[in-house]
Amino acid sequence: MKKVFSLILLVLVFQLVHCEIFSFPVDNPRVSASFGEFRGTGNRGPHFHMGMDFSTGLRSGVPIYAVERGWLVRIEVDEDDIYGYVVVLEHENGYRTVYAHLSNFSPKVQPIVDSIKQEFGNTRVVVKFPEREVWFEKREVVGFSGTTGEAPVPHAHLEVRDKREEYSYNPSKFLNLPKPTDQNIVLEKIKIGDNVYDFYEGGVYTYSGLFPQLSLKAYSRGFNNTLGLNRISLFLEDSEIYRLSFEEISWQEFTNVWAVYDKASVSEAYRFELWYKLFPEGSSSIVKVNRFPDVGRFPDYAKYRVVLEDVWGMKREFSFYLRRR
Ligand SMILES: [Zn+2]
Repeated sequence: MKKVFSLILLVLVFQLVHCEIFSFPVDNPRVSASFGEFRGTGNRGPHFHMGMDFSTGLRSGVPIYAVERGWLVRIEVDEDDIYGYVVVLEHENGYRTVYAHLSNFSPKVQPIVDSIKQEFGNTRVVVKFPEREVWFEKREVVGFSGTTGEAPVPHAHLEVRDKREEYSYNPSKFLNLPKPTDQNIVLEKIKIGDNVYDFYEGGVYTYSGLFPQLSLKAYSRGFNNTLGLNRISLFLEDSEIYRLSFEEISWQEFTNVWAVYDKASVSEAYRFELWYKLFPEGSSSIVKVNRFPDVGRFPDYAKYRVVLEDVWGMKREFSFYLRRR
């Protein structure tokens, strides 16, 4: 009896840690943008990237697959909004997955879309389907890659939400992502207040005031792409005093980007500069550790360390010194 109980416990713990592993929305999955990245464009203003992008080799019309068996919740037909043409599925594990920027839908729903377009033209139309009526098998085609909505080049946007769609979760938690061979993590520049410096390992930088207003221009590289990071931790001597972690983002915080990103951040079609803010200003649930109030007045001279973690779970550490001016 005890054995059975511990086995059940073990299974439960395993499921909690690993969640359900989804399959990939494309063949040959190469991540081209990560969850939580800053986006400066779109008709709703600066916002977080709430999903993960996969390359389709810059091609439209590439099949996009359901990552798990699920029923069709809705389709959205909209050329102008951030998401463009969208399919939303709900799965038995309680999560919903969202597939965006599609050029066309699966043959199962395309006739419905065609008749909608005939009737409503290019206005935004959302079609909701009755619960558990239209099913998609795991790896069944839900639609085809495109550039509808905020997509400068064709790709697959995958998003994982709870069934009430109050949160989006980092898809890296649900996928066993293949690693690129050109994987790297770069800390390029640091910004203290308004001053920007090239980053040097072990470098000494100056700050003024009660605490350093530190931001980092940092990113990861993989599959020949520049990507946002999953986690950024700041250590003062040996204690972690600040952490940004992109695990989930509430839809209420969709546009609450300035507590996490410095104003110098840019993400458009051809420019990508993410500046992570590593001091408290405004509030955000992405800030998982903030010990600034405990530290109070920061030391006149101290060693700092940042640990950056990418979407594949690789970590890299950098250290430097800050001196009060
Ligand atoms: Zn995307």
